[in-house]
Amino acid sequence: MTTLMHWLSQSWLASVLDLVLVFFVVYEVLKLLKGTRAAQVALGIALVALLYQASHWLHLPTLEFVIRHSFLYVGFAVVVLFQNEIRTAFAHFGRNIRFSALFGWRAPKSPMAQYEDVLLAVTTFAAKKTGALIVFERQDNLDEYITRGVKLDAVVGYDLLINLFNPEAPLHDGAVIIRQGRIAAASCFLPLTLNPRLSKDTGTRHRSAIGITEETDAFVIVVSEETGMVSCVEHGQIKRGLGIREVRALLSRALNAAEGPSPPVRRRRRLLIEDTSGVDFVTADLRSETGETPAAGTPALVGEGRTSRMRERGVVDVAAVWRQGQHWAAWWGERCRALLFENFPLKFIAAVITSALWLSATKQDAIPFVLRGVPITYQGLQEDLIIANSQEVQEVTIRVRGPRDVVERLRPESFVVTVPLAGKNPGERVIVLREDARIEKPTNVEILEIEPVRITLNLERQVYREVEIKPNFRGVLPVDREIAEYQVTPPTTRVRGPESQVYALQAVGTETIWLNIHDRSFVERYKVDVKDPRIEIVGASEVEVKVTIRPIIIRRRVDVILDVPGTPPKRLEVTVEGPKSVVEKLRGRDFQATVANEPVAEHPFRRAVVVTPPPAVAGQVQIVAVNPSEVLYRAP
Ligand code: ATP
Ligand code: MG
Repeated sequence: MTTLMHWLSQSWLASVLDLVLVFFVVYEVLKLLKGTRAAQVALGIALVALLYQASHWLHLPTLEFVIRHSFLYVGFAVVVLFQNEIRTAFAHFGRNIRFSALFGWRAPKSPMAQYEDVLLAVTTFAAKKTGALIVFERQDNLDEYITRGVKLDAVVGYDLLINLFNPEAPLHDGAVIIRQGRIAAASCFLPLTLNPRLSKDTGTRHRSAIGITEETDAFVIVVSEETGMVSCVEHGQIKRGLGIREVRALLSRALNAAEGPSPPVRRRRRLLIEDTSGVDFVTADLRSETGETPAAGTPALVGEGRTSRMRERGVVDVAAVWRQGQHWAAWWGERCRALLFENFPLKFIAAVITSALWLSATKQDAIPFVLRGVPITYQGLQEDLIIANSQEVQEVTIRVRGPRDVVERLRPESFVVTVPLAGKNPGERVIVLREDARIEKPTNVEILEIEPVRITLNLERQVYREVEIKPNFRGVLPVDREIAEYQVTPPTTRVRGPESQVYALQAVGTETIWLNIHDRSFVERYKVDVKDPRIEIVGASEVEVKVTIRPIIIRRRVDVILDVPGTPPKRLEVTVEGPKSVVEKLRGRDFQATVANEPVAEHPFRRAVVVTPPPAVAGQVQIVAVNPSEVLYRAP
């Protein structure tokens, strides 16, 4: 549905529809205005509008300024002055949105013979000077006036009419309204015209007759009580002093009765048939060229295409009014003639106004506009290819020109820029957007420029590869810890992406593994993470990382003073080994240094030096070497 709407809004059909609708509205408004005092005002406004255009073209800024600023007030004035007319106009539109009226088509009405009784009665009223007011409903609905009178719904007849307008009779005051060949109501009150141009001696009966035809499209026959004169009223225009022939002609034209063409109707028969299931009666349309009634048992198409056999038949001709000798061609010819020439001056003016409106809406006001962020879509790229640009162009800026109201409502989404890539081979491809891209745009909008003018796409083959997974360690372990070893399972995963990128890839990482929080070995699961958006992981996306952590062992030399009787004090270089945190804190004076009890073999004065670590760290640190390891010793 939305694509259909979109398509429609882009196509020339939309413009045609636009024009037809504007023409229709203008034409209807003109029809309403015709003959009313609003017409002169409308003409005045049109002249001012023309003057405004002229001032625009001839560059007369002061005149343009004055008119533009007074137009608003003119608008208000029009609304106030013509509130009645505007109300009627809207009511009229509401009741009569019918293209058939535009094409001059009217539904076939009752034959004129039916109204002969009315004409006869009118003759009698004229002769006897009986006042009468007879309103014929046409396309505009007259319910508003019917309900205010006395409802009848009776067959039109001479005697009834004579009786109704008999001055002695209770219903003689007011109007009789005739709807589709029947008297709908009598004694109806009609609105009086306010037309100031009517002569003073036009009484209320005639004024009300004119009034109703100003507000609706009704046709009225009035017989004067004072003079016996017969008048016909239509569209606010009264024709006085008519003979009965003229009245008949006017009436038959107004009601389109038995005159002028009515559309030939294809022979269609509506059959009442019984569904074989016996459940219900259904109706079916059956086209019968011969016009014969189908025999019982004939299969017929029923309702939603079910087949049923007819048993009971009540044959009702709905519209078997195929007029002999009247051909479709002739009928259509007549209709086309009516479409073009009926009410020609008004249609011509409407066409001129429509073109003027169209021109001013489309061409006059074309203003430039810059639209940023219009999205691009790439389409039809071969399955095994990929756009390998590090940053592919996703959006463009479009400079356009168009009518102000269209341009102001533009959104980036109003445009669809599609770059067709079907059949393109790997390599660097330059796309000139104006030429190569398909750009859907709103009608009336002209594209001036697209930025960037061209885009370069790097098309590459997509490849698969197995790559190593490296844990992504961040942060540091507590000071005296180090990673002894780690293990990633599975050790590799499979990736897909543009050839160049995939082959350049050394390894893929994991999500960050924070070391600060660990002081002993751990095993945890992590997601595999590739930074490059063009590379996609198709293999394992999660790995188990097993990290073995151990304390850091260091060696350090400390100076320890050997101070025992029997040998002069001596500085010893002692090398200790142990966990970093412990070893770093050791100080020389915390060590105990002494000499062994026994002399070193063969040397009675040589004794081995014995160094003992501080008791607090005993067992954690080891003494690796002492230099010198022996001293000369003479027992005191
Ligand atoms: P006539 O030539 O017959 O005298 P007129 O135009 O001079 O007609 P009046 O003499 O005022 O008019 O006629 C009055 C009659 O017109 C009323 O008795 C009534 O039947 C009818 N009439 C007056 N006003 C209306 C109205 N608003 N709606 C319907 N009928 C009306
Ligand atoms: Mg009078």
